[in-house]
Amino acid sequence: MTRSRLAALAAVLASLASPGHAQEAQPESTTALAERASVTAEDFMVATAHPLATKAGYDVLAAGGSAADAAVAVQMMLGLVEPQSSGLGGGTFLLYWNAALGELTSFDGRETAPAIADPGYWLGPDGAAVEFWDAVVGGRSVGVPGTPKLMEEIHARYGRLPWADLLAPAIDTAEAGFEISQRMADAIVEGQEQRLDAFPAAKAYFFDDGGSPKAEGSPLRNPDYARTLRLLAAQGTAPFYTGSIARDIVAAVRTETNPGELTLADFADYKVKERAPVCLDYRTYEVCGMGPPSSGALTVGQILGILSHWDLGRPGANTDIDHLFIEASKLAFADRGLYMADSDFVKMPAGLLDPAYLESRAALIDPGAAMGSAAPGEPPWDETRLYAPSADQPEFGTSHFVIVDRYGDMVSATTTIETGFGSRVMVDGFLLNNELTDFSFEPEADGKPIANRVEAGKRPRSSMAPTIVLEHGEPRLLIGSPGGSRIIEYVAEALIGILDLGLDPQEAIDRPHVVNRNSDTTEVEEGPGAEATIARLAAVGQTAKAANLNSGLHAILIGDGTLTGGADKRREGLAMGD
Ligand code: GLU
Repeated sequence: MTRSRLAALAAVLASLASPGHAQEAQPESTTALAERASVTAEDFMVATAHPLATKAGYDVLAAGGSAADAAVAVQMMLGLVEPQSSGLGGGTFLLYWNAALGELTSFDGRETAPAIADPGYWLGPDGAAVEFWDAVVGGRSVGVPGTPKLMEEIHARYGRLPWADLLAPAIDTAEAGFEISQRMADAIVEGQEQRLDAFPAAKAYFFDDGGSPKAEGSPLRNPDYARTLRLLAAQGTAPFYTGSIARDIVAAVRTETNPGELTLADFADYKVKERAPVCLDYRTYEVCGMGPPSSGALTVGQILGILSHWDLGRPGANTDIDHLFIEASKLAFADRGLYMADSDFVKMPAGLLDPAYLESRAALIDPGAAMGSAAPGEPPWDETRLYAPSADQPEFGTSHFVIVDRYGDMVSATTTIETGFGSRVMVDGFLLNNELTDFSFEPEADGKPIANRVEAGKRPRSSMAPTIVLEHGEPRLLIGSPGGSRIIEYVAEALIGILDLGLDPQEAIDRPHVVNRNSDTTEVEEGPGAEATIARLAAVGQTAKAANLNSGLHAILIGDGTLTGGADKRREGLAMGD
């Protein structure tokens, strides 16, 4: 056994044995804060949010599987052991590096709105937008899931091992049972606050006979999930999109509390879209990520493009890089709120990453004084201001994983059912997403449409930012995170940590977060240094408060012959390789 393998297994034990950590209620709380070191390997590596998912991916890679094969095994296991965050009932964005072709591409497995949906989808009978949690809970928030088809398509394209073999570890674990992790146990308690136990299938699975949330360490078996996976193993995803599973989902969505309007035709019409990645030249690197319908790569790209006007590694005595980051972030989020949505449905400016435009945005930053909140800019565009800005809405949940195989293929994927436990509607052993609440609830403002309003068949705007960084045309870094719209800042901060400050992935992931999504108040990650950071920011006029900032960053740095992986100390994941 190599040293890296030993380190990885030690980390598994540490993560499973780590003490609890009380947190403010939110659908995905920080788990363990278990300190960990980067993991190194030579030939292949996988980092995910759960040790059993990492192990499933590791075993596939060790057996000669490709990054795509490992991604399938990881996703099927995550859907079992971290069901609150992702699964068959949700959507995924995945970047794939094809080593043989030297080609980077991206796959959009985002959920779609039903064909019957219109911009008034989230307005109540009084014409006002419904309350967020009233919208989340029940069938109406469910979009057509894309994760199963995306997994099938990347396997068809890049797989080396039989599809059924990749589902086997999750089937075996679902039948044999596994222990509820601390994070899942905490999530069940938090989920109960938002009616998780009001849904019979979820109640039967996540709560004991007396109605109490199942506790950390309790054994859990999921025979329904095993049955579903056996069906997919034998028949591919046809049962999911045109067969019995589609029928089960449509029936549940249309009859459960707050019924939705998905139809079998919506399922039959679902398509995974291959899209060109969105890339930004940054220093000596090309930072590439997921374009619309995600705002991830464009907003991360704007932050970095604005900050490229400072040498962050040597900022100078009077320049505070947290302040610069906050200001760049405000500017980028202002553009995000106005312009970004599913570009198959709305026109978007081509110049959001234009270097001259970003230079003009950087010029708005005063290194010595905070700007308050930022207004959107005027990127190069042949149309101006077609839309009204949208307010930020809560987003939670989600999981990110990264994989490098022995052939040099790589995956960086962010996968979600939106909030913790999604819509709460559980069908055939898995939870259905509430992704339709990622649309703007308000269809218009000031007489103008909001770009991210609901439309038939449209994909809700995302913040997910699976990222692959290239240098001289070769991959150097894979990274991404959950965290709602804070994903954008978690990823941008870690990129700066690694690319500008020279930190290794674990160090960069562990750096305390500083987040501002264009509001008056910056959030500083609670912890030992928080008060000092808040005081330092006050000196440049930034109002800041301590907050629980729960990322789930997973990263692999690709060096000469060495892979270095990091897994977020705020969750219970693990990097493992050989
Ligand atoms: N639904 C969110 C999005 O697509 C992700 C939720 C999260 O990461 O917390 O942006």
